[in-house]
Amino acid sequence: MTTPITVAYGDGIGPEIMEAALSILKAAKADIKPEIIEVGKKVYESGQTSGIAPASWESIHRTKIILKAPITTPQGGGYKSLNVTLRKSLGLYANVRPVASYYPFVSTPHQVMDMVIVRENEEDLYTGIEHRQTDEVVQCLKLVSRTGCEKIVRYAFEYAVKNNRKKVSCMSKDNIMKMTDGLFHRTFNEIAKEYPNIANDHYIVDIGSARIAAKPEIFDVIVTMNLYGDIISDIAAEISGSVGLAGSSNVGDEYAMFEAIHGSAPDIAGQDIANPSGLLAGAVMMLVHIGQNKIATLVHNALLATIESGIHTADLYNKKISKKKVGTKDFAKAVIDHLGKKPKKLRAVDYAGKSESSAKKSGVSLRIAEKKELVGVDIFADIRNQNAIQVAGVVGKFKTAGLALQSISNRGLKVWPGDISGLKYNDHWCCRYLGKQPVPHGEILELLNQFKAAQIDFIKTENLYNFEGKPGFTAGQGE
Ligand code: NAD
Repeated sequence: MTTPITVAYGDGIGPEIMEAALSILKAAKADIKPEIIEVGKKVYESGQTSGIAPASWESIHRTKIILKAPITTPQGGGYKSLNVTLRKSLGLYANVRPVASYYPFVSTPHQVMDMVIVRENEEDLYTGIEHRQTDEVVQCLKLVSRTGCEKIVRYAFEYAVKNNRKKVSCMSKDNIMKMTDGLFHRTFNEIAKEYPNIANDHYIVDIGSARIAAKPEIFDVIVTMNLYGDIISDIAAEISGSVGLAGSSNVGDEYAMFEAIHGSAPDIAGQDIANPSGLLAGAVMMLVHIGQNKIATLVHNALLATIESGIHTADLYNKKISKKKVGTKDFAKAVIDHLGKKPKKLRAVDYAGKSESSAKKSGVSLRIAEKKELVGVDIFADIRNQNAIQVAGVVGKFKTAGLALQSISNRGLKVWPGDISGLKYNDHWCCRYLGKQPVPHGEILELLNQFKAAQIDFIKTENLYNFEGKPGFTAGQGE
């Protein structure tokens, strides 16, 4: 049965590489019916800050499958990234990015490289919740949920099982972000125990990224958080030869979206020189997702055979290795000419029996909510041209029956009480009021009223809770 798919041509090189990819799918007799929707720059410029017209949602909600070329997100001006909106509103929690080396046919320092990056796609710093709080300070909220961690980690292990992979590596920065990244790492350790036949390890993301760049052959499947996954998959694609080579899928329980990992490359747009391989690799993942595995095998092997034949776009072209430099259109023609052929030296693919969707087991374990008690509050205040002793002199007088000032920090550094209380910091002060016993919410209001009466600009509050008696908040640095 013909599968309708929603197609977005995107911006920059988007239309050129989409044209190329669709021409290859057509020649390979993929049984799909593309429905074209308008997204991106034009839509933004027409006044839709989301980058997508309301009518386009109808096609997406019906087909549930999107093949999307990259789009340009205008800077500033209240525009929201369409990519982030699509991923979040369609529940596309897993971003799967396979990256392989095509050595010796593509110039790369790495002969062996065959990794799949599974990136959490809905949470972390990409929630886009940002505020300017004082004259000097802005913030971005990093939100991480246990459910989100479980879903993505389980997806990565299921992917490893279904695709005959041997190891899953976790990357986080939990030595610094003990609560957010700590939750991700702990969840990884818990779920890894359920998969005794798959090896597992953990890297702090900075050394992990360095190892990807230097020794990519040691990695198999990598599971990581949203921002780190975005960065390391570009590193991986770039060292494999070109950022133009890698494709990705964004998968949820109901919808899926397929794309290249690179952006809209405005610097080379309209010149017929972009490499369509990344989008084509995304389209191959789409074919597997909709069960057209034979066509996926045909197209992917033709792509590998073309690269092996030395017919390369400018990003891959290397005098010593390449035989012919071609533009986007001619590269697509070459792939079409290679349909039915298999690579001779590169490993040919075979998607028979493989299923993207069978890796979708995203079950989340039931757990009993922990006992939560309010024990204090961090009140953030905008106070200018003062040191911590002066700030404490004012806010230290504020108290309730159960709460008193315990410490003051400035951008996470505890500055009062202590030796550095006399130094000047910026205008963003966190005043921590803690009690010995749980307190009612009304005591926070009492404190805020005291700030108001003293005409101190409180910019936000964070309640401090204990969970099963353990603090659900970090201490300031140096506390
Ligand atoms: P980019 O990936 O577009 O380009 C980085 C470099 O790689 C450029 O030199 C470009 O010419 C080159 N390149 C990228 N794809 C190529 C290809 N297929 N063939 C040959 N060379 C290629 O990154 P950028 O310049 O940082 O971003 C440009 C725009 O793309 C921005 O507006 C950004 O927001 C957007 N973007 C969109 C997506 C998406 O839609 N999924 C992803 C990333 C960036």
